[in-house]
Parts: sequence; structure tokens; C-alpha cells
Amino acid sequence: MQNCIFCKIIAGELPAKKVFEDEFVLAFHDIEPVAPVHVLIIPKTTGENHINSAHGISESNAEYIAKIFEAVPKIAASLGLSDDNGYRIVTNIGKDGKQSVFHLHFHLIGGKPLPARFW
Ligand code: 5GP
Ligand code: ZN
Repeated sequence: MQNCIFCKIIAGELPAKKVFEDEFVLAFHDIEPVAPVHVLIIPKTTGENHINSAHGISESNAEYIAKIFEAVPKIAASLGLSDDNGYRIVTNIGKDGKQSVFHLHFHLIGGKPLPARFW
């Protein structure tokens, strides 16, 4: 997808405060955090393999999704989160889901007690 800010972060064309990176996954701090910990975790899928949202997940890119969720506990632990204090993973999809960046991303949010629901 052209002019995708997260593709530009992957390419190193825009700066980001990275917290984790491997061949499949990049995680970086959200520019407008809603909690003490607010990290975005994205697949490094670009060009014709671009995944716009969780609605674009399929067998052909499922490996990236598995890699993201394998990375979640490592990223969370590195930021002081555990299954004891807890945290939340959220992904917004499309217009009604209030998605604003159309490159699949999972918000990892924690570091304080979160509201029981977002809806
Ligand atoms: P969405 O609304 O699509 O679920 O989430 C997009 C998120 O990306 C928002 O929380 C927003 O603050 C974050 N964001 C937008 N632009 C940038 C940017 O250039 N850098 C970083 N680190 N986060 C961004
Ligand atoms: Zn992108």
C-alpha cells in the first residue's frame, strides 16, 4: 500500500521507538499512548503482501500472525507486563472499528488497570 506510515517505519523512512524486531515482526511505542505501556505490533508485510487489517488475515500470511503472537509475551515481559499484572491486545478494523492506520497492527496496552470494556 502506497504512503502507508507503518510501511515507512518498517523501511526506516520514518522514525519509531522500537521495542522488538525480527524478520517477521516489528513493535514500537505508539506516538499517542493511552496508557503507561502502549506498543503497536505489526507484521513486516509490504507491497503485494500488505495486510490492511485483521480482515486481511489468510492462510497465505498466517505465519506472520503466529510470529506476532509468539512475540507478544516477550515484548510484554520486556515492558514489565505479565499474566499477573495483565495487559490487553486490541486490533481495530475499518470504519466502524475506528481503524486509522490501514496496516494491520495490534495495540499492546497496559501498565495500569484498564477499563472493563472499550465498547
Ligand atoms: P488505529 O486507530 O488504526 O487502531 O491505531 C493507529 C495507532 O497508530 C494510533 O494509536 C496512533 O496513535 C498511532 N500512530 C499514528 N501515526 C503514528 C506514527 O507515525 N508513529 C507511531 N509510533 N504511532 C502512530
Ligand atoms: Zn503498510
